[in-house]
Parts: sequence; C-alpha cells; structure tokens
Amino acid sequence: MCRKAYEADGTFLSQDSIQEYCDYVLKLEDPRLEEVFPDCLNDVSRRVFNSFNKFRQLQSTSKEKLVPPSPKSSERYGSFSYPKFKRNVRLEVEGKIWLHGIGEVKCVVHRRIDGAPFSCTISRSPTGKWYAVISFIQNNESESKISPKGDNPVGVDLGLYNLAVFSDGTVYDNKKLFDKMVSDMAKIQRKMGLYEVGTAEHQRYKRRLVHLFEHYNNRVKDEMHKRSTEVVETYSMIALEDIDVKEMIEHYHTRAGRRSQSTAAWRTFVEMIEYKADEAGVQVVFVNPMFTSQVCSACRSFVHKGLGVRVHECPICGLVLDRDVNAARNILRIGLGMQASVTGNRNSRISI
Ligand SMILES: [Zn+2]
Repeated sequence: MCRKAYEADGTFLSQDSIQEYCDYVLKLEDPRLEEVFPDCLNDVSRRVFNSFNKFRQLQSTSKEKLVPPSPKSSERYGSFSYPKFKRNVRLEVEGKIWLHGIGEVKCVVHRRIDGAPFSCTISRSPTGKWYAVISFIQNNESESKISPKGDNPVGVDLGLYNLAVFSDGTVYDNKKLFDKMVSDMAKIQRKMGLYEVGTAEHQRYKRRLVHLFEHYNNRVKDEMHKRSTEVVETYSMIALEDIDVKEMIEHYHTRAGRRSQSTAAWRTFVEMIEYKADEAGVQVVFVNPMFTSQVCSACRSFVHKGLGVRVHECPICGLVLDRDVNAARNILRIGLGMQASVTGNRNSRISI
C-alpha cells in the first residue's frame, strides 16, 4: 500500500494509516492475523513506516530518482519485536524467558540486565538459532571492566589486507581466518555444483554453507571483541578513520562486493572500540582519511602511490615505512591536532 501511494502521487502514509490498513483490511483478508499479538503487528507497521521514512529522507537529498523499499520474502523476515517490555516479557525464572503469546522458553543469559528494560526483539539466525535482544536504560554509570593503563595515543588505519594497522606498528590481520573461510566455502560450493538445484543433496550443501558462514562470522566477531578490548586497554587516545568517508574512497577504487564486506567489518570494529572506550573513559577521535596514505608522515610531502604499492618511500626525507603504518601515523597526527581544537563538525566527533 505504501508503494502504491508513493507511486501514484508521491504521498507518504502516516504510521496510523498503515496501522489502520493492517487492522481493518489485512485482517479481513487473512484471518490468521487475528491470532498475532497486537503489539507485534504494531511493530510491523512501525518498521514499514520507518523504512519509508528513511527512503523519504534519502530521496529528499538525492538528485536521482530512488526506488522505494520493497517487501521482504517471509524467509528473510527473521525477527519480531515486543515494543513494550513490562507487559510482554518476563525474566523472573532463572534460565527461562516468558514471552506474551508464546509462553516460557528456555534460554541462556549472556549478559546481565542492569537497568530498566524497555523493548525486546526476538530474532532468528540463518541457521535457525533464536536470540532475544533486550534494550534497557542503564542504571548508573556503567562500571567498565576495562582499566586503561596506557599513556600513549595511537592512530589506526583500517585496511583490506589487514583489519587494522596501528601507528606503533602493531598489525591485526584476519587473513588466515579469511583465507580458510574462502577455501572451505569453495569446497562446499564445488560439491553443491555437482547436484541440480532443488535436489535434497543440493539443499544439504546449501545448509552446510549457511552454517559455515555463521561459524566464521562468530569467530571474526569474537576476535574483534578481544582486539577492541586490547586497544582500549593499551592506548590513552585512539584516532580512527571516519568510515563514511573511507567508504566513499574505497568505492572509488574497488569493486562493490569486496567493498561492502570490508566496510561492514570496519564498522563493527570501530563501534566496539567506540563503546568500550566510552565506558572506560578513553578518548576517541574521528579523522577524515582523505590522503592519509599518500602524505609522508615525517615531512608531509605528497608521495603518490597506487593501491598495489605496499611500501611508503619518501624521495624528499628518505623515510621508508610500511604503507599502512605511514597512514596510521598521519591519522594519529591529525587526531592529536583535532584533540587540541575541538570543533562541532562531524569529522571531529569526539567521544569522552
Ligand atoms: Zn618524507
């Protein structure tokens, strides 16, 4: 209905009218909807409204005509929400969660809730695992488990070859894990290719592929957790790249598939560092990464190099350094400058 309204005369429907459509029209068409818990249905109209609202904002800033959001297949719709926690969710019995309309479900609690919960989203992973994600307002200033001890600021360069390279020369790479994943997946894909689409064997390998992908994703996330904690523990100030700008630069240089994969990993890593630093009272500065790999970190001359050139060799001052370490040092220098003069714009967003 939202699409039709937009395509007919460019109008956007209010959340109330989407809700009314759901309550009075859809419910008549499909009586099964009567059985769905009302708060969850409200949440669906909220999601539809939000995605159209986002589209509206994008459209207002874009010169081109954008395609409005389209419906997801039921297979891809893997979650539902309880927007009102108190009424619908209970966590009174240890190891169990009670959900309105479903009842008591066994669960494993990963994190203690220290505050007032306000919403709960139940989601299903591609391999059929179920998660309850609970949002809550924290009671007090959180006690960070991380105690920063460093007195050394650091710059971080995010890369395609290595996840992150630090201005002091530390390297975090995911290469081994990534290579193993690619070769494991290729093996399964080869076997899958021997069978016709739709056969039981094909399905079996497809399931295996999904499992493998989830397994590696979990391992990468686990690695990132360990490393982001380490970063916050080690350094007193962390200068990171502004990912939005970084993405634009990458988009210019690389093909789309690889780009989205790497920026997704960067975003996760940066978000982890940001919130852990915030809790531990470590400062994070976001730097515009433009030209950080081209400029010499010692004498600031411009030394042009293509993507394939892995070593920075300065013809002016003679500095020879790994390309990414040179970039990380530039990021640190800009970060320290910004720390001194904090202004209000996006690129000097500061988290204390
Ligand atoms: Zn130089």
